[in-house]
Formats: sequence, C-alpha cells, structure tokens
Amino acid sequence: MTFSAPLQAGEVALVGAGPGSPELLTLAAARLLTDCDVIVHDALVSPEVLAMAGSGARLVFAGKRGGRPSVDQQDISDTLIRLARQGLRVVRLKGGDPFVFGRGGEEMRALAAAGIRCRVVPGITAGVAAPAVAGIPVTDRSVNSSLAFLTGHEIGEDSRIDWPALVAAFPVLVFYMGVQSLPAIAERLMAAGLSGDMPVGVISSATLPDEKVVTGSLHDAQAGRLAVSAPAIIVIGEVVASRVDWQSMVGVGTPE
Ligand code: SAH
Repeated sequence: MTFSAPLQAGEVALVGAGPGSPELLTLAAARLLTDCDVIVHDALVSPEVLAMAGSGARLVFAGKRGGRPSVDQQDISDTLIRLARQGLRVVRLKGGDPFVFGRGGEEMRALAAAGIRCRVVPGITAGVAAPAVAGIPVTDRSVNSSLAFLTGHEIGEDSRIDWPALVAAFPVLVFYMGVQSLPAIAERLMAAGLSGDMPVGVISSATLPDEKVVTGSLHDAQAGRLAVSAPAIIVIGEVVASRVDWQSMVGVGTPE
C-alpha cells in the first residue's frame, strides 16, 4: 500500500490535514495536495495548509461548523461522487484525522456504495496534537493506562454519556468541540464525583499562529474562567499537572 501514489482519474483520497500547521502534514498529504484536480475541504482546514495546494487544484469549500447552519452531509458525499464521476482526481481534506469526529466513515461508505475508488490517508488528530504542543502527555505511566476521546456537542439533558461510568473508567478525558459547553461539562463531571481541583487544560488553535493554552481546575472551568475561542481541545485529568511548557524554554541547550 502506498499512500502517496498518484491519484487515478475518478479517484477520491480522504486525507487528514492534521491540526493546522503544514509542517504536521504527512508526506502523502503534502504530495497529494500538490497533485490533484480538486480539493474539497472543511472549515477547519487552516489557510496555511490550503496554501500547500498545487496551482492546478481547484478549492471547494464544504464546511460544517458547530452552531451554524451546516452543509448537509449527503450533499458533501454527492459532491465528491459527482466530481469523481467527472474523472477528476479528488482530495477530500479534513482537519486532523478523517475518521476522528470527522464523518470520514460516512463519506467512505457513500463512495464505496457508488463504486468510486477511494483511499484514506490518516492525519494527526487534534486530541493528541493539541495537548502535545502544550506539553501535556495524554498518557503518563504514573497517571493513566486508558483515555477517552469525547465530543462536547452532546451534553444536553438527553446526553448519551453515562457520566459516573465515564469518570470511573477513564482517568483522562479529551473533549473535542467542547468550548461552548465547557462549564456544563465541568458541572456534570463534578456531579459524577470528580474533584473540583482536578486539573484542566484548554488548547485553542493548536499549532497555528494564534495558539493559546489556558490551565486551571474543574471549578475554574465551571465558572467560565477557562474560556477560549474555538477550535479548542479540552484535557481533563492529572496529566495536565505534569505539563512542561516546552515552547517557552527557548535557549535551553542551544549552542552559543
Ligand atoms: N477530525 C478532527 C476533529 C474534527 S471535530 C481531528 O481529528 O482533529 C472539530 C474539533 O477538533 C474542534 O472543535 C476542536 O475541538 C478540534 N480541533 C481541530 N483543530 C484544532 C486545533 N488546531 N486546535 C485545537 N483544537 C482543534
């Protein structure tokens, strides 16, 4: 299997764009971006990554964004199928990894059902990359042997999450799409038994020029003191306390 072999006419590649910095693209993603006919991308794909597109590639926006009227998923799949049937070489570019809260599975199934040849190029997911740039290891031998990735979108009264079971099973929780609901998330976690002192890290626009990291406690989160702008990843657990702010350690070990 080669990920970066030239696309055939009528083929679609579901490609992960990583968290934002073009340096964190895979070699295959970088190569396919420069050698395709059309790039169908999400709102989350950074301008820095889109700037890597080859001059012959047409950009098509097919965004979905929390809280706003979203492009229908069926429409996006139909667009991919239509472009492929025109014989174009299509890159379907998604933030992070296509299969992590990215609906890549639905698109892959739609393409397969339409008989369209497709491939998947994994990307670095924000739930791992954002903590890493903040110096927070999502697993640490002294803290956790498991972790949970969750979406913060489904926090209302009809939430499908069994909160007591969640906090009992997973010492570290990583929330995607949780900026708006962070106070509610914190409240649910405390009601389910987590201490209000539990450390929380919020990383916004990770790997991009306006990257921002804030840390505090569940109490702070509930009180709205850890508010940042989207997109952001929220990490909850003792691993946040072992953070090393390596980005501010400029000069350490640098030769004169
Ligand atoms: N497929 C993507 C996730 C899409 S859901 C992935 O694997 O990363 C969208 C959520 O991803 C955002 O709400 C945010 O929680 C997270 N996210 C994406 N890019 C981010 C970034 N650069 N910094 C922080 N969070 C990011």
